[in-house]
Amino acid sequence: MTEIVGRLAPSPTGALHVGHARSFLLAWWHARSRGGRVVLRIEDLDRERVKPGATDLVLRDLEWLGLDWDGPMLRQSEDEEPLRAAVAELLERGSVYPCFCTRREIALSAPHVTDGEVRYPGTCRGRFASAADGERELGRAPGLRLAVEPGELALEDGFVGPFTSDVEREVGDFQVQRRDGALAYQLAVVVHDARQGVTEVLRGRDLLSSSARQWLLQEHLGLPHPTWYHVPVVVDEGGARLAKRRGDATLVELRERRVDPRALVAWVARSSGVNAPDRIGARDALEGFRLDAVPKEDVVFGARERAALG
Ligand SMILES: [Zn+2]
Repeated sequence: MTEIVGRLAPSPTGALHVGHARSFLLAWWHARSRGGRVVLRIEDLDRERVKPGATDLVLRDLEWLGLDWDGPMLRQSEDEEPLRAAVAELLERGSVYPCFCTRREIALSAPHVTDGEVRYPGTCRGRFASAADGERELGRAPGLRLAVEPGELALEDGFVGPFTSDVEREVGDFQVQRRDGALAYQLAVVVHDARQGVTEVLRGRDLLSSSARQWLLQEHLGLPHPTWYHVPVVVDEGGARLAKRRGDATLVELRERRVDPRALVAWVARSSGVNAPDRIGARDALEGFRLDAVPKEDVVFGARERAALG
């Protein structure tokens, strides 16, 4: 039997909210309840979006929830070497090509949008004989995009079940390295998942659409595919997903209000099919947790739920 390795992968781009707490608890319960390990990774590669001090805050949030992890935490920003090596490998295999387009040029040329993402129309595929030629002609450095073949991928999710995705139609050739040299999120995720030996990825359903891109990168790099579990997300009374930028129901705020973390854990447990008392520690919910008992619908966290935490 292979070892089970789950992961917590917060991004320190703002305060974590109740939706993150639920996903992290589910990931932790799913791995730990089956004797698995849990590793921690800080997804801080996007320097423009990382907030100073947010990593410390995230660590405090995880500890407040009663979650622990095995081995040293990995900060993506401090482990770029393997990402650069992966880019070099993709270049060598001819899986990626240089793209000189600015964000504005792409937005103008591609009105087709999926989930707020603009589809890249393949403008630079075969456009120049070499990256140096393009740089000379346009006077700017290129990023790199994975050349995606058209067609539907049939994939499997441990929670959602089978699903299909057509990356070429949905987002087109996608970036693995930006024009400023920054490495793309999708690349970092697959390389670091492999480096940390992650065998399962449990996260919010809002990330389901990025799975196919990650699957493709894993194929190109010869990396194993972890099992995915895309779980329902937490929404407000109006059905909108909680969002960092709106400052929704943050754990910092709950801590400041002196809410007992065990009350929040109990709410998550009960909304996840665990028969739990009003207050329960993360570890105490392990025994009653089963992923297949988690309801398939999104969970509402509104004024009533907030007040009930005390
Ligand atoms: Zn381009």
